[in-house]
Amino acid sequence: MLSIAKVTKNYTPRGGRGVKRRGQGPATGPALRGIDLEVGRGQFHTLLGPSGCGKTTLLRSIAGLERPDSGTITLAGTTMFSSATGIDVSPDRRGFGMVFQSYAIWPHMDVFKNVAFPLAVRRPGRTTPKLSRAEQRERVEEALAAVGLADYAGRPATNLSGGQQQRLAVARALVTRPPLVLLDEPLSNLDARLRESMRFELKRLQRETGVTMVYVTHDQAEALALSDVVTVMSAGSIEQSGSPQEIYDQPSSLFVAEFVGAPNLLPGVVEHTAGDAARVASEAGSIAVDRCRLEQGARVRVLMRPEDFTVTPADAAPDGADHNTFEGVITATAFEGERVRQKVQVGDLTVECHAERHQALSEGTSVRLTIPPAQVRLVPEAEGERRTERQPEPAAA
Ligand code: ADP
Ligand code: MG
Repeated sequence: MLSIAKVTKNYTPRGGRGVKRRGQGPATGPALRGIDLEVGRGQFHTLLGPSGCGKTTLLRSIAGLERPDSGTITLAGTTMFSSATGIDVSPDRRGFGMVFQSYAIWPHMDVFKNVAFPLAVRRPGRTTPKLSRAEQRERVEEALAAVGLADYAGRPATNLSGGQQQRLAVARALVTRPPLVLLDEPLSNLDARLRESMRFELKRLQRETGVTMVYVTHDQAEALALSDVVTVMSAGSIEQSGSPQEIYDQPSSLFVAEFVGAPNLLPGVVEHTAGDAARVASEAGSIAVDRCRLEQGARVRVLMRPEDFTVTPADAAPDGADHNTFEGVITATAFEGERVRQKVQVGDLTVECHAERHQALSEGTSVRLTIPPAQVRLVPEAEGERRTERQPEPAAA
């Protein structure tokens, strides 16, 4: 439905100040380096990546607010932008709904008028007939009902709470029944609890209206919770596109694995393959995996999710299953309510694992960690792969 091909954008032209090689930080080099992306009709598609990776530039390019240097953008077969033919449809003619982090409500208008505004200023066109007053009222009421603000129509917009103002911004983006709604970090100004409940609201709304959404965030938990498809970006390029499960379970690069928050990524080398199965040599010994698409000798990171380990006291009888086993000592624990995070020293390595609250063992306990080969994933480690720090979560208000 939305097709993006070979889109590039460089704010600092070649030879200008600030142009440096890739890998020297996000503030230099092209903002977009040849983006190819397909968004299906009715999809909730999220662009996920660290600050400065180009998410906003891509979203604004889709909206027509930013002019790419090259590439094409088409919506349902209609060209919105093409550097080859010079087509560049203006933002109001593209007619997409937009929601920003700063939700920009109009403080001098009541809730109803805020939502009605895009209908009032809209230029009627071939696909957007002029609406009568009654039809406009109906549209506004429908949009307000969709976001749960039906009873607030007559209130001054400034009387709404932060979460309600954000819902108002969403209603305003939906009222014209746009083919596409673009959202740029719309929840990041809300406190942690409100942010979580708004995730459910947004997802419900998207499912109910069936509207296609492109959603930008740097918050991996938000991306996984909301999306049909997550596209992970880094330094102006796409690292991986896939379902939340694919991104979480099969990260295609170390960057994605780290960004999606994998604490255990042991360096290793594929030492033996047999069909799909393989053994990997690592500092923690030889590790068996069920699925390996890499050649013998390939350098990898062994990804073992903290929730996939079973932790038992070292002196308990082994359960006899043919699992990977590591012996260690619990060096730190953190109670987090429904689970306990534990750090286990295995030789020179620290492995993080999670235990249910009733099964947690105390610090200093000698333990055995087991994990079945089916739950161990391998992430290819490209030559010269950069290590990247995850963004800290914004502090809750
Ligand atoms: P994100 O939304 O992922 O944080 P942006 O798209 O805002 O990233 O920025 C991508 C890169 O482009 C960054 O290096 C940023 O500094 C740069 N950039 C963004 N907007 C401008 C601008 N108007 N002028 C110059 N550089 C910009
Ligand atoms: Mg941004």
